[in-house]
Amino acid sequence: MKRMLITGGAGFIGANFVRYWKNQHPKDMLVVVDAMTYAGNRSNLLGILDDRCELIESNINDTQKMMQLLREYRLETIVHFAAETHVDRSIDGPDVFIEANILGTHSLLKAARQVWQLEGRALGDHRFHHISTDEVYGSLSLTDPAFTEATAYAPNSPYSSSKASSDFLVRAYHHTYGMNTSMTNCSNNYGPFHYPEKLIPRLLLNLLHGRELPVYGNGENIRDWLYVQDHARAIELVLNKGQTGQTYNVGGINEWKNIDIVRLMCQLVEDRFERDKNLHDCYPSCPAACGKPCESAISFVRDRPGHDFRYAIDSSKITKELGYQPETAFESGLGKTVDWYLENSDWWQPLFSG
Ligand code: NAD
Repeated sequence: MKRMLITGGAGFIGANFVRYWKNQHPKDMLVVVDAMTYAGNRSNLLGILDDRCELIESNINDTQKMMQLLREYRLETIVHFAAETHVDRSIDGPDVFIEANILGTHSLLKAARQVWQLEGRALGDHRFHHISTDEVYGSLSLTDPAFTEATAYAPNSPYSSSKASSDFLVRAYHHTYGMNTSMTNCSNNYGPFHYPEKLIPRLLLNLLHGRELPVYGNGENIRDWLYVQDHARAIELVLNKGQTGQTYNVGGINEWKNIDIVRLMCQLVEDRFERDKNLHDCYPSCPAACGKPCESAISFVRDRPGHDFRYAIDSSKITKELGYQPETAFESGLGKTVDWYLENSDWWQPLFSG
């Protein structure tokens, strides 16, 4: 039985992970810590909070508070999601990324070392699992091989640099202090509870509201996409069977050009409007309700500065060592995601101002 501190658990991936874990391991004790920034949302955990799954509004930079929680709840596992995550915001204002991602991770590491190692309070084997990103490896050309765990770090944005720094701190706490750490570097996640500023929900919600679909540059940039529940399963495998001190790359074996995602989204929305005439009344400005092709909303906009061309993840280590396989094909995962947003407008309406 695990007793876990889950940081950033009211955000997109964290909340999906908490839901997944609670479903798979209902007897475990989960303490979710979240600073409730604009990206944190109590309703992401609606229906699952109880005396074995508590949400505590607090900042990971508060080392004393983190120590207090580790002691009070006798937590021996940390799964660390909390971070500032939006690349565009990191370009406009990097400071908060340094504060949350670098200093925040260090604060949490210090708290864990104090309680687990110096005070010897870990009940069994402790574990600090850090969630990182493929963006730390930099950018690939069309023909480069995918990132492996041995690829040299070359982060290009303030976001990816802050994540790279936090990865190095986690590595240092393992090598220097013998802390039991592990890390997953994953590709772009998608699925339910994704904040509307991110590409996939933004495309869908813009389309529903008859707004343009902004595509950076020529739309040729390539990302690998991972369904968020496949990611949760990969983290579970690493926590249960992964080696400490190790990094595991987690991808969806699913590279897509941005423009092709936009086109697929257009097809899915047209299909849903064809099948369900009620959608025409709910979203009368959507091109699909006005007899226009959804692709007519595509608008190419000036590229993001320093926009990495391609990310691709080689997941063969976690596949060979731990048996991980992504289970959700992109077309079906994106369809499920579209359906979730159509069924949960109460969730996104307060967050979507356009
Ligand atoms: P998110 O922005 O949806 O959620 C982040 C959460 O962290 C929010 O709930 C926020 O309130 C909380 N938070 C931020 N600063 C905090 C602080 N100082 N103290 C406590 N809580 C704080 O992000 P996400 O997409 O769920 O990403 C989760 C993790 O996964 C991040 O570490 C991110 O770098 C990593 N990651 C995300 C993706 C992706 O595609 N979303 C891909 C690779 C890696």
